[in-house]
Amino acid sequence: MEVSSLQVERKSTRKISVGSVEVGGDSPITVQSMTITKTADVDGTLQQIYGLAAAGADIVRCTCNETEAAEGLARIVPRSPVPIIADIHHQYKMAMAAMEAGVQGLRLNPGNIRRPEHIKTVASEARDRGIPIRIGVNAGSLDPALYEKYGGATPEAMVESAKQEIAYFEDVGFDLIKISVKASSVPLMVEAYRQLSEVTDYPLHLGVTEAGPPPAGLIKATAGIATLLLEGIGDTIRYSLTADSVEEARAGRQLLEALGLRERKNVDLIACPSCGRAEVDVIEVANRAMDAFSDRKLPLQIAVMGCVVNGPGEARDADLGIAAGNKRGHLFVRGQNVAVVPENEMVDQLVEWAEFINEHGVDAALERVDLVKAAREAEKDRARLLDEQGADANHSAEKIVEIRKTTS
Ligand code: SF4
Repeated sequence: MEVSSLQVERKSTRKISVGSVEVGGDSPITVQSMTITKTADVDGTLQQIYGLAAAGADIVRCTCNETEAAEGLARIVPRSPVPIIADIHHQYKMAMAAMEAGVQGLRLNPGNIRRPEHIKTVASEARDRGIPIRIGVNAGSLDPALYEKYGGATPEAMVESAKQEIAYFEDVGFDLIKISVKASSVPLMVEAYRQLSEVTDYPLHLGVTEAGPPPAGLIKATAGIATLLLEGIGDTIRYSLTADSVEEARAGRQLLEALGLRERKNVDLIACPSCGRAEVDVIEVANRAMDAFSDRKLPLQIAVMGCVVNGPGEARDADLGIAAGNKRGHLFVRGQNVAVVPENEMVDQLVEWAEFINEHGVDAALERVDLVKAAREAEKDRARLLDEQGADANHSAEKIVEIRKTTS
């Protein structure tokens, strides 16, 4: 049986709309990211927003910390390709200004805006305008009273903070709510979201806050977000990386595609880890292929394998692949050999075949060549390659010299 997506039973949540993008209920899980420009810099911010949208962000958040930022939002929102959420810090008046600017959503941190009358003023205005608000609880900026009551930023304290804010919102009849309970500790955020999902059916926004630079940041964020998604928890996600925010959007999209929770838009490049049989530098070829495909929206699985002995078989489910031999590679489509190509043309040929498959389909690609002849040629070449002594692609000989120097 082909398993293309994990069977996750998603916890049922209410559906809200952030502009044109639905969040919660049976809507697809969405990817969010945030700009890092001054929001008053309209052109610079829009440029980032377009970059984030191209990399997979469905919704983008911009900071709204001063009047100039709100004024910038008034110019940004009508020109943005995706809905814009204003991130409000300490001043509730900035939330009012952002709504006036036309944003499609707000994010409030209950630890920062604490006066109930201010919270209710914002919620009433959002209710009248139909603008959703994310209650963004953060372990690092929890209300000090809750910190004291629970002896720290515990999952219980974070959930109570969210519940208090929900109560203020519901007091004024506002329910266009989504919630996050982020922490930089993965176990803490996982437990906080689990507890929260038990007590509310508002949609949840997942994230590991301040995850840090990749690769550690990517691992932490993925550990937290993926764990929850596989438990059916979460309706929208954000990677908080100390990196170009395009990487955040790309990572979010890749995670959802990898879990089968969003339709594939981009190449899924699989590559063998290399071993003693490899006759090319698999890492180098895989990286070149990754670069070649990075800007092409091709929803295909493409394999880069280090040898013709096991490569085509191990990657037979890929739509397309290359198995590298000494100075040449065997191109295969769904495990069937279609061509033997010189080493310096491997990546270009992969791109050419991928575009053909994307446009015409796998069957048409297989009809392009005489498969019997291609298989015969590949088999002959494979036999030749097995006899040849290829280059030491993993530089084992050099490593052995170094080891001998160290131990002599
Ligand atoms: S495909 Fe070949 S080179 Fe790559 S890991 Fe498998 S056996 Fe080794």
